[in-house]
Amino acid sequence: MASIQLATLAMATRFEFVLQGPRPSALRSAGEEAIAEIQRLDATLSVHRPESEIAALNRDAASQPVRVSPEVFRLLQHAIVLSQAAAGAFDITVGPLLKAWGFVRGTGHLPDPAALEAARAATGPHQVVFDESSMTLQFAHPGTRIDLGAIGKGYALDRAAAFLQEADVTSALLHGGTSTAVAWGQPEDTPAWRIAIDPPFSEPNQDTPPPPLAVAELHNESLSVSAVWGKGFTQNGRFYGHIIDPRTGHPTQGALLAAMILPSATESDALSTALLVRGSEMVARLRDANAPARCLVAIPIQEPPGYQIDTWGIPVTDPAFSKKSGNPSAP
Ligand code: AMP
Ligand code: MG
Repeated sequence: MASIQLATLAMATRFEFVLQGPRPSALRSAGEEAIAEIQRLDATLSVHRPESEIAALNRDAASQPVRVSPEVFRLLQHAIVLSQAAAGAFDITVGPLLKAWGFVRGTGHLPDPAALEAARAATGPHQVVFDESSMTLQFAHPGTRIDLGAIGKGYALDRAAAFLQEADVTSALLHGGTSTAVAWGQPEDTPAWRIAIDPPFSEPNQDTPPPPLAVAELHNESLSVSAVWGKGFTQNGRFYGHIIDPRTGHPTQGALLAAMILPSATESDALSTALLVRGSEMVARLRDANAPARCLVAIPIQEPPGYQIDTWGIPVTDPAFSKKSGNPSAP
């Protein structure tokens, strides 16, 4: 079995692929085409590229119907379905809220109250009106803007994976900026691809990295991790991160880190963001429904200062956390 590695910069992050299969030359050409697919989706979905389909929507869809490709139409429809599944905690119309909180091109600031109210009025999945017959979209509110920051990497990885699976890559691990990973098959000498989930607040370049919070084994599925740090600001001793609770219009304060494992990377990406917003309440719902998903959240606690883990199906590495966890050993 041959194995190759490829990487590319896209969507403001680094994508890396480990591909395994019988023929190295076939792996390389398939890998290069999958990278081209990721680049194509970056050019299609980025809010920052004026020529992208999403930039065209954000520029024009408030004043007139805008025709999009069937692919973008379906992806946005899927995103709206995921919003409903997430009880509004994942919402691609958070664009105006991100802008009001200074997260669009910066690290954030407290919003002007009037700007925040205006942003809240422009937000919500109902603001995007779909017309299937003409493949057009229109915004119901002049201030509505779409942001695919919480789902685009997952979608791009799903597309790349579909392409590679067709091209006879028998086993692979793909990830985008370590926040979403897709795995199928298994590495040669281990039964599954294993991915470490780092504890909250770990510095990527520390000399001795802390032990992982959990190690997820992926069997033809995807893992996404969302976290509040990375982009945010502190004001009056309080940290405001870049993930907004669309229901309140404020950066979420509920959890520090959320991990979600599902068969689809599009869905794990969107729903890890929702899980960060909803915290333990969403874990409890998945547990009560015996959902075919696995997830984990780190919830801040005051005494002793730190966090506790609530999990459905992702065992934590450190048993000290299991004691505090509501359900440490879900299936
Ligand atoms: P992720 O790292 O996948 O959780 O995505 C976070 C990014 O998604 C943020 O940087 C924003 O661009 C965007 N975003 C923030 N809050 C939300 C939300 N509640 N729903 C959808 N996208 C969001
Ligand atoms: Mg996400």
